[in-house]
Amino acid sequence: MKEKKLFINGQWVDSAKGRTRTIINPFNQEAVAEVAEGGEADTLEAIEAARKAFDEGEWTHKPAVERGKLVFKIAELIERDKQELAKMETLDTGKTVTESLDDMNDIIEVFRYYGGLADKDGGEIIDSPIPDSRSKVVREPVGVCGQITPWNYPLLQAAWKIAPALAAGNTIIIKPSEITPLTTIKVTELMEEAGVPSGVVNLVLGPGEKTGQQLAESHEVDLISFTGGLETGRKVMNAASGNFKKIALELGGKNPNIVFEDADFDTAMDQALNAVFFHAGQVCSAGARLLVQDSLHDRFVPELVKRTKQIKLGSGFDKTTQSGPLISKEHLEKVENYTAVGIKEGAKLITGGKRPTGKELQSGFFYEPTIFTDCDSSMRIVQEETFGPILTIERFHTEEEAVQLANDSIYGLAGAVWTEDTKKAERAAGKLRMGTVWINDFHPYFAQAPWGGYKSSGIGRELGRQGLEEYTEVKHIYENTNPEPLHWF
Ligand code: NAP
Repeated sequence: MKEKKLFINGQWVDSAKGRTRTIINPFNQEAVAEVAEGGEADTLEAIEAARKAFDEGEWTHKPAVERGKLVFKIAELIERDKQELAKMETLDTGKTVTESLDDMNDIIEVFRYYGGLADKDGGEIIDSPIPDSRSKVVREPVGVCGQITPWNYPLLQAAWKIAPALAAGNTIIIKPSEITPLTTIKVTELMEEAGVPSGVVNLVLGPGEKTGQQLAESHEVDLISFTGGLETGRKVMNAASGNFKKIALELGGKNPNIVFEDADFDTAMDQALNAVFFHAGQVCSAGARLLVQDSLHDRFVPELVKRTKQIKLGSGFDKTTQSGPLISKEHLEKVENYTAVGIKEGAKLITGGKRPTGKELQSGFFYEPTIFTDCDSSMRIVQEETFGPILTIERFHTEEEAVQLANDSIYGLAGAVWTEDTKKAERAAGKLRMGTVWINDFHPYFAQAPWGGYKSSGIGRELGRQGLEEYTEVKHIYENTNPEPLHWF
């Protein structure tokens, strides 16, 4: 097994202390790779390299069109190697190869989008109120950016950060989750192949509470972009306050999926399953909280349960598999615990709620797709992100009640409304306090549209123009074209 290294200042290096970590396949717990496990000295070196590369300015002052071409080149290389990358992502996360390939196609589009956007903002001339003056507003790169990504969409989340940061002229230190670093390592190799100058991209590997925390605390880092859970986000935000660095936080969600009685029954049913059980529910935007109108509830739920029982769990490499395992033993136990919490709170478990019995699934971290009915918004199982294949179902009577229940959450990442009544859909969409609202659909996101959360789901946006702007500072340049003494003093 070839050992994977850290990438610092254009060189692949072992960790200073020579530590390594074994990466395992969550489907069967077999070792798939050995990677360097960096420590404080390695992260410091990476920060210094990124700082030097930024301050020297070769990358930052390159014409934006040239930076854009390089970001395009990275997209081409990912396209060339996407089959290999998809298999790697499946080995590392357990998701199906079809899902991984979809991720790779989205990632390519993200690099292409930001490659194209790099030179589209030439600044803005302001109509200055002061005679004999010129005023313009320009956007400049922020500087050294620390980027911390989670394990559920390892390369997709990295792409949402790397592509805009490079397009805007920043230098970066990327830290993937220590359990799923493989595709980020591979794409770092591709960035080197594409010709990214030394020190512009640095890759550190190591445990989040040390390596990630160090990036968030460092006064040489100008921006920290983090995707992960609420509690870690809070630590990152606190650590970032030391030098008031810019922060971008993409946190969790407990996303309501509202089905009105006049929804297209079969489509709403089919997509409700996809909303929650896709990638075993390990999706920030999972539709884990289903709100069904009272008059539809007793027809909708039995059909949903029937279909849930048919979901095929298995290896991500098996074409018939619909859902893979959870990421780790610890995460499986956390999800299991939520089932116990739901039962204790009085929710009614109507399917799942245990590990599957199939012989071929025993070495993996599998959990049966699970549904609770008779839920209400006072329950932890309704309010907290379980991040597993657990669906809670609540009833509502009126449109107002549906909106009120859906907004009764600390989160505000995404939500959906299912109805044939366009006016009702638009009214509800306007009142939902979320960064994304889908009408008669669930899950679509794309490079061109911003993604991010209201309330505790985060700060800032990724994707779209807004995703590029996060990586820029705004500067006002004012010129007096006829300077004269003021004669004040
Ligand atoms: P997590 O435990 O918060 O970890 C996220 C990242 O932070 C990992 O790279 C982790 O490193 C690192 N980390 C851990 N402790 C840290 C610290 N003290 N300082 C800095 N970094 C630290 O989250 P996760 O379990 O990987 O991911 C699941 C969460 O991500 C869910 O809540 C999900 O909703 C959220 N998410 C949100 C979005 C979105 O777009 N809003 C997208 C995807 C996921 P190690 O893993 O190496 O310890």
